[in-house]
Amino acid sequence: MQFTIGWMHDLPMTELTSTARTRPDWLRRGCVAVGNWEPLVFQRRRGTWRTVDEAEIYEREHSEQTVRTLVDLGVNMVITHFYKGYGLRAEAEETEKAVALARRCRAHGIRVGAYVQWGTYHPETLVLEVPDCERWARIDRDGRPALPYGSAQSFRLKACPNRPGVLEYMEQVVAAAVDMVDPDLIHLDNFNLGRLHDACWCDDCRASFEAFVRQAYPPDRYREVFGYPPEATLRRPDLRAPVHEVFRRRIWDPAVRAYLDWHCDVSRRALRRIVDFGRRLKPDVIFDINTGGLNGVNVAGMLGMDSAGLYPLVESFWDEEHCVPRVRPEGGLTSKFRSYKLTRNYDLLQFSYCGNMDHDDRDAGKWLAESLAFNRNVALYVDHYPGSRGFWPATGPGYVRFLREHESLFATRRPVSDIAVVRVETALTPSFDDDWAQQMLAEQYLFERGRAFEILFGSQVERIGACRVILLAGASAVDDAFEAALRQYVNDGGGLVIAGAVGRRDEHQRDRGSNLLDRLLDRRNLPMPCRAAKIGRGLVAHVNQIVPSVPYPQEESFDLGGTYYDAWRLPANAVALDRALAAVAPDGLRFEPDAPHGVVFEYYADDEGHQVHLLDLADRKGLKCTLTCRLDRRPVDARLITRSGETACAISDRSEAVEITIADDQFDTYGILLIRDADGARS
Ligand SMILES: [Zn+2]
Repeated sequence: MQFTIGWMHDLPMTELTSTARTRPDWLRRGCVAVGNWEPLVFQRRRGTWRTVDEAEIYEREHSEQTVRTLVDLGVNMVITHFYKGYGLRAEAEETEKAVALARRCRAHGIRVGAYVQWGTYHPETLVLEVPDCERWARIDRDGRPALPYGSAQSFRLKACPNRPGVLEYMEQVVAAAVDMVDPDLIHLDNFNLGRLHDACWCDDCRASFEAFVRQAYPPDRYREVFGYPPEATLRRPDLRAPVHEVFRRRIWDPAVRAYLDWHCDVSRRALRRIVDFGRRLKPDVIFDINTGGLNGVNVAGMLGMDSAGLYPLVESFWDEEHCVPRVRPEGGLTSKFRSYKLTRNYDLLQFSYCGNMDHDDRDAGKWLAESLAFNRNVALYVDHYPGSRGFWPATGPGYVRFLREHESLFATRRPVSDIAVVRVETALTPSFDDDWAQQMLAEQYLFERGRAFEILFGSQVERIGACRVILLAGASAVDDAFEAALRQYVNDGGGLVIAGAVGRRDEHQRDRGSNLLDRLLDRRNLPMPCRAAKIGRGLVAHVNQIVPSVPYPQEESFDLGGTYYDAWRLPANAVALDRALAAVAPDGLRFEPDAPHGVVFEYYADDEGHQVHLLDLADRKGLKCTLTCRLDRRPVDARLITRSGETACAISDRSEAVEITIADDQFDTYGILLIRDADGARS
């Protein structure tokens, strides 16, 4: 079986997956990181942050005294400015400061990351070094350079990776970074090509698109997908408005879907070239990309950012979403759990803002706790520097101390999940409609219920076998390979819950004439909603749909700036979902918590048993809750460890399960329940 990385063509994953990904040992200790990646030239030219003492602050950020302060705070990584797009020559003076800072950091055992601006360049200065750099610019259909930051920053242009010289220069930048800074990490900022309707209109991009279509669609498929004879050339679509405005609910035009796929492919190939180049120079350098957050906006459909195709190429992900983990006044829970879970499945470390000057200590504390609970190879990242422009939350030291005191727990934990919810690209990428709402609500439901779950992409379908139950919602279009894998999973004894019209269409958005549920079961034998039907050794149940508690935003508002926190609430029919899950897992799941609203859980196995990380998103003190566990070995010891100490937890026997009672009057935001059995973990 071959799984595709896009949703239409058959380029195999192996062709694009770099095999040289590295996982240096130092990552296991976890990162406590700060950064100063905006060079003075950018601060001045942009003009938005300026202060009369800017030069003095900038000097201080590079000083020995600041580095010593960072050491005292427990910082073990500094991401320094290196290349902001002005040109290696124009930034040379500032680069020298970065090199000196890197030397000071290393002398104190602090790892160093080098910032490289991928997304934009500044021709006013770069032209001194690269006379024809104006030709790099991504252009619109009238030949004018696109302005990624609009007229307010018209000095910044976006380079087209298909133009001669662009990636060659990026290689020079990476080579210079390796040579001068010897970085442990290279951060590629703003890693995107912009929105699809702004896709570059240059001749190189036209040729690239046509070549891509020829390669991805051999003549017989070409005719099947586009209806054309092979000698007819598919033109790139002339999109004059954002895709979601043009198509409203779903991209029906196969050429636009091919165009999106091509856009993703350009990014993937460019990234692969640069990271492979960097690793040849320094095999243990890790690469970090900032593609924004994964909050549920259709970035694949609008930006052509194919997460599942990019993540296997790098070691680290930068999440620029500022979503604060909290209980909202309307009752919903907000969190960046989606980004953490999705990137963790690719073994990525995630840098995630844990505080800045717009937020208070309380918010920062929750961000830090959320990172400890969910992040792979824990990164606590605080925006910019303390002691200069930056912010170091009062809650910071307590969390850093906790991380250091329990380093081995974080280093050895492995996520465990009872349930997987799958983001099926064939449905979601061309969708601006109900598929996204259903998907987000399914994830929200599992999060709010404190379930042990993970979020997979459809292209990771080979991993579903590790979970007891699959919850599928928002997957109106599935390809044959995905359907066959699901069928096999259920036949082998898996539990499947289907919400809504899953599998109504194929990957070309053609109506299959029936839903997946009807194809799995004889239509006449369809059970009532929430009741299970047996297929092979497995069970299938369905609910008609996931019902939002408040109307989900209409497709018109699907825009990049939008995050729909207000709609992130427990679905109105959560109880029906509970029943459907119970129906397909009649022996119960491994972990079933009963906790006050706002307390969420993340589950891990380690060498001695299990760890359950508890995060209270409400502002309150104290915690009382229970956790029913069905583990291979009966726990002999359960302890809650927090920043203020350790509390023993009662273990009581229930039929086929044990119940652990957690009661801690002093509980504040975060703690780890350690469940120990006599012989160590069995899962
Ligand atoms: Zn171009």
